[in-house]
Formats: sequence, C-alpha cells, structure tokens
Amino acid sequence: MQKFNTKSILSKFDFYEYESNSSANGNLNVFNPYDNSLIKTLPSDSVSSAIEKINRMDRYRREERDFSIINNGHLLEKWHLKILEKKNDLADLMVLEQGKPLAEAISEVEYGAAFIKWYSEEGKRIKGDLLESPYSDREFLVKRQPIGLVATITPWNFPLAMFARKASAALAAGCSVITKPAEDTPLTTLAMIFLAREIGFIREILDAIVVPRSKVSEIGQLLCANQKISKVSFTGSTAVGKQLVMQGAGTLQKFSLELGGNAPFIVREDADIELASNELILSKFRNAGQTCVCANRIFVNTTIFDNFVSIFLNKVKAIKTGCGFEAGVQIGPLINHAAADRYKKLISDLKLSGAKFLHYKEISNEGLIFEPTVVVSAKRDVRAFDEEIFGPLAVIYKFDTDREAIEQSNATNYGLASYLFTESRQAIKNYTNLLDFGIVCVNAGTFSNSVAPFGGFKESGVGREGGRYGLEEFLETKFVSIK
Ligand code: ADP
Repeated sequence: MQKFNTKSILSKFDFYEYESNSSANGNLNVFNPYDNSLIKTLPSDSVSSAIEKINRMDRYRREERDFSIINNGHLLEKWHLKILEKKNDLADLMVLEQGKPLAEAISEVEYGAAFIKWYSEEGKRIKGDLLESPYSDREFLVKRQPIGLVATITPWNFPLAMFARKASAALAAGCSVITKPAEDTPLTTLAMIFLAREIGFIREILDAIVVPRSKVSEIGQLLCANQKISKVSFTGSTAVGKQLVMQGAGTLQKFSLELGGNAPFIVREDADIELASNELILSKFRNAGQTCVCANRIFVNTTIFDNFVSIFLNKVKAIKTGCGFEAGVQIGPLINHAAADRYKKLISDLKLSGAKFLHYKEISNEGLIFEPTVVVSAKRDVRAFDEEIFGPLAVIYKFDTDREAIEQSNATNYGLASYLFTESRQAIKNYTNLLDFGIVCVNAGTFSNSVAPFGGFKESGVGREGGRYGLEEFLETKFVSIK
C-alpha cells in the first residue's frame, strides 16, 4: 500500500539555500526510518563555511544598528501564522524523516507554533530597573540586553518543536540564531527556515549549519569555542551536553542545556486507575517512547498492582504500530539502527535479570518498528532503571510506602520530569515538595506548554525553556551608573 509520496511532500518546500553548498565537503543523506529509503541528499557545511556564516551574522549585529526586538516580534508573529498555514505540509515532512504518527506530528507543529506566538508578544515586556541610588549624584540603571549570537543544537525526536522553542525565545530577546539540526532530521528545520525567509527573517539573523554525524563533533567544537557566539542552547544527551561544556570551558561559553531524563511515574493506592493507565499510554508510548520526559520507571503501589497492570496491559495490546502516515497508528519506527541496537540491549538485560515479560514480540526483521513491551521487574539493578529507555518499553516496579516511592524516584542522577497519580491533596503536597525534578505532573501524562518552564534538576540540564523563564536565558544584565 502506498502511504506517502516523498517527492510530493518535499516539493512543498524549497531547500535551495542549503542545496547550493558545494558537495566538496561531503553530503548528508536523510533516510526515512519507516522503510529506510533515501529521502534527500544535502551538501554538507564545512568548518570554514560554518565560520563564514557566523562571521556574516556577527558583522550584521555590529554594523546594522536598526536591528530591534520589536521588529523581531513582528516577524515572529508572521512566522507563527505561516507555520500554521503550512501545518499539514510540515507535519508530513516530519513523519517522513522522523517516523512519528501524523497526529503527533500535527500536534508538534501546533506546539512549536505556540512558542513562537507566545514569544512574539513577550519581547515587548522585557524590562530593566531604575534603582534607588545610595548617592545623590548618581543614577543607577539596570538594562536587559540580548546576549548576542546564539547557536542552537537540536535533537531528532522533536525536530520542529525543539528548534522553535529555542529560536523563538532567542529571537524575541533580540538575539540572532544559528542552528545545527540533528543529522537524522534536518529537513523539518530547513523547511521552518524556508518559511522564516518568506516572511522576512534574513540569513544574517537566522541561519543553519548542516552536517552529517561524522562532522558533528568539529562543528560542536567550533560553536562552543567561537567567541562570536555568546550562548549555546543544546537539547540532547547528557553525555554530549557534558562534552560541549568542556569544549566551551576555554572561552567560558554560556550554555542552556536540556539533557536526559529518567522520569518516575508513580501510581498511589488511591489513584484513579483508569485515568493513570490511559495517561501512562500517552506518557510512555508517545513518539515510540523516544522523549526525555517519557515515563521511564513506573512505580505502582503493591495493593493495586495486579489490577493496574491488567488494565494497562489491555490498553497496550490494542496499540497499533506501523507507518506514521497510516490512520490509527500510535507507534512508528525508532529513529535509526543505533537506537534500535541500544533498545535491544535494554531488553536483553531485563531478560537476563529474570524480569517478567507480560507483553512482548520477538523482533523478526531488520526494521525499526517494535511492538510495545510490558515488563514487571522486582530488581532495580537493571539498565532500564538507570538509563533513558527511548523505546516502547514499559517497566513496572512495586512499592509499599510513599517514602519508598520518593526515595526510589530520586535515586537517579537525572531530574527532568516526574508524574504522580493520587486523589489525596496531602500526598500531592508531600510529593511535589520532595521529588527532585524540574517538573512534577500530577494526574496527567503530558504537561508541556509555551507559558511554563521546561527544564531539569541535576544532570538533566541547566536553564529553562518556555514562558518568561525561557526569555531570561537569552538576556544579559547591564548595570549602568551615571554621574
Ligand atoms: P542522540 O544520541 O539522541 O542522537 P545526541 O546528544 O547525540 O542525542 O544528539 C543531539 C544533537 O547533538 C544532534 O543535533 C547531534 O548532531 C548533536 N551532537 C551529537 N554529538 C555532538 C558533538 N560532539 N558536538 C556537537 N553536537 C553534537
């Protein structure tokens, strides 16, 4: 069955700016994770073409003083409208290169656009202070200024939203943005930039660097160490985040980092089990389980354990896997073979540990689609307890007391999202105080919104995205003393 037409999806956007690079620097091949077909080949940037882009943007910041926050706000407003106008085309392109179900891709476009809309307004509200000076002959002002040229490095799991979330806040603060999209999914970002060009964002304010995985490290090095770049905003793995920080140490580069998570999903004895199991389906299997806020360790109170597991299992059995363009499909392919190999290792490790597999299908081919798997584990010393699963695998653990649930939830170096299901106000108060996570989501499996701060404690990152907190990341504070 023909489910999509690659040529027709690509024809909705023009990638000319990035196709005009010379192939002398090598190419970036973009594949469809559903059937491994080649979608498109883009000529790669080199370190010197990337430096040229950075220099052009830097020159513009220094020479063109008419650059204004209000103007960027107007452009963001137009960009938001343009993105919504092209919502279906962007969603199709995302399914093609990323594999997620179409309905999820459409929500991602809306979610990303909502950030652009929110920040299009928020730039106007940047304000400084006039301080009460202790000296009669001195005036004290505090000004907020754009930090400068920002580099963003984004992952493949939300190719549109992660770029939109960073770029819109930085642009609203009056910064310019050079972005490096993930090598698995560059086309969605380039399509967004194509739409940005149509409404007036010029290359000097918004541009991209496109490279294959083999060159990512040298480009990362360049972005972290180049003194014309004032901040690096990165979303990706904790290991790469740490590497970037080390690369930026020599120039004291500033970073915002959205890194890995290891989310606990706690179901207390007084929880609404039907609600909790429905929300767990969303939280666990969205994007084939490939998000840093997916439920990673599911803790269920002993007294309701069997009941909860049987209700959840029935829902899991009804999940349809397949091509993201096919109606009703809830789980598409994993992103690439490296991700699939890692995922299979987590499953083997659980098997060796003696965990109980309640729902599982052996993988019979070389494809990237995996059926949802449900496992009950009595042991905590399994890889799936410590690592981000990033696949459609639900591992459920029992707990007896609140204290145990909180201690086990916090027993990780990560601290991004956490989930709690309970009907007790006192328990909500207790858990929200004690969970060491940047986000505590109560009685729901999803939470992300343009008005709210997204970010983690501990090794899950530095800084926040979203709302007024996200804008702060791209502003400098200048104290002016006038005599
Ligand atoms: P994943 O393993 O899920 O792909 P990564 O952290 O490796 O997550 O990738 C997230 C983003 O970071 C991608 O855009 C990727 O190209 C980029 N990246 C990976 N390694 C480096 C590096 N050494 N320097 C700069 N960027 C990197």
